[in-house]
Amino acid sequence: NREWHLLSRPVGLPKPENFALVETEAPQPRENQVLVRNTYLSVDPYMRGRMSAAKSYVDPYELGKPMEGGAVGEVVASNAEGIAVGDHVLHSGGWREYAAVDAQRAVKVDPEAAPLSAYLGVLGMPGLTAYAGLLRVASFKEGDIVFVSGAAGAVGSLVGQLAKLKGASRVIGSAGSDEKARLLLEEYGFDAAFNYKNGPVSEQLRAAAPDGIDVYFDNVGGDHLEAAIGSLRQGGRIAVCGMISVYNNTEPAPGPRNLIRLIQTRGRIEGFIVGDHRDLQPQFVREVGPWVREGRLKYRETVVEGIENTLEAFLGLLRGDNIGKMVVKL
Ligand code: NDP
Repeated sequence: NREWHLLSRPVGLPKPENFALVETEAPQPRENQVLVRNTYLSVDPYMRGRMSAAKSYVDPYELGKPMEGGAVGEVVASNAEGIAVGDHVLHSGGWREYAAVDAQRAVKVDPEAAPLSAYLGVLGMPGLTAYAGLLRVASFKEGDIVFVSGAAGAVGSLVGQLAKLKGASRVIGSAGSDEKARLLLEEYGFDAAFNYKNGPVSEQLRAAAPDGIDVYFDNVGGDHLEAAIGSLRQGGRIAVCGMISVYNNTEPAPGPRNLIRLIQTRGRIEGFIVGDHRDLQPQFVREVGPWVREGRLKYRETVVEGIENTLEAFLGLLRGDNIGKMVVKL
């Protein structure tokens, strides 16, 4: 069994020397546990937060211990009722080849119903994030003009498409390359898209949304958030999902300078954590599952192969190497 350990806490951008791929004995499943051979590992932006010691909504990774994360795999030994050898499960023992998982924390998934990797992306945590963030936190309603950043990523690409499917009057996305911006228009059906590296976000947003925006789904923070506040219409809502532009900062980033606009617009900014919206999971699967099967909601994955490349996959996520969900195939 090989597993990734955090050796020291990164300052700024994580470096390879902060981590080690460690060879260990495969764990033995205890009572009410199953042993899982992982087939897909998830790397996600929130993991950057867990590499730091700062208190947050999930505990920091412990130094010298295997890191955790979403994973799907096949059960190869079972000491638990209801889960058999050969079953596939979704669990949080990622960053390693073999995981001993408590049965009550393993969710059975059906490899016939969807490709296994989809349970880490479009049908998994990022999918529910997009759904809950747009529909509940941002109170999306038909006719809204919606702007989403990180729009070619796992969450963002779903936000834009969900908004279209639910009757948005205009959907605008931003992403970090011309190729990604083109993809938003041609594959995901966005009405407008721009590469935020091509010029000031506020100017590009104003050109893409001349009438302003009702909803901003923030994956990025920084300039994007300020630009969105500047374009907010009456009663506008901003769902703060992520702020990836500041995750490697060593000093707090300056806040938006135009918050006064929230008074004029009666605007609302609200942060959220997907874990608080698990009650929406059945509704999400019922509604979004068929759209995915019918191809009305498209998703991409960037698949990196090999446990030894997991760290590189994570670092690639911070650089924007991915289109859609970044996963590691073992
Ligand atoms: P993505 O698939 O969107 O991958 C991350 C993307 O971030 C990269 O592809 C890159 O795309 C972009 N990025 C990196 N650095 C910057 C930067 N400085 N400015 C702008 N964009 C940048 O990841 P996810 O879909 O998994 O996550 C998206 C966001 O949602 C993250 O902020 C994440 O933390 C958050 N999140 C929050 C959850 C919650 O419960 N609140 C749950 C899940 C995710 P590009 O080429 O466009 O720069």
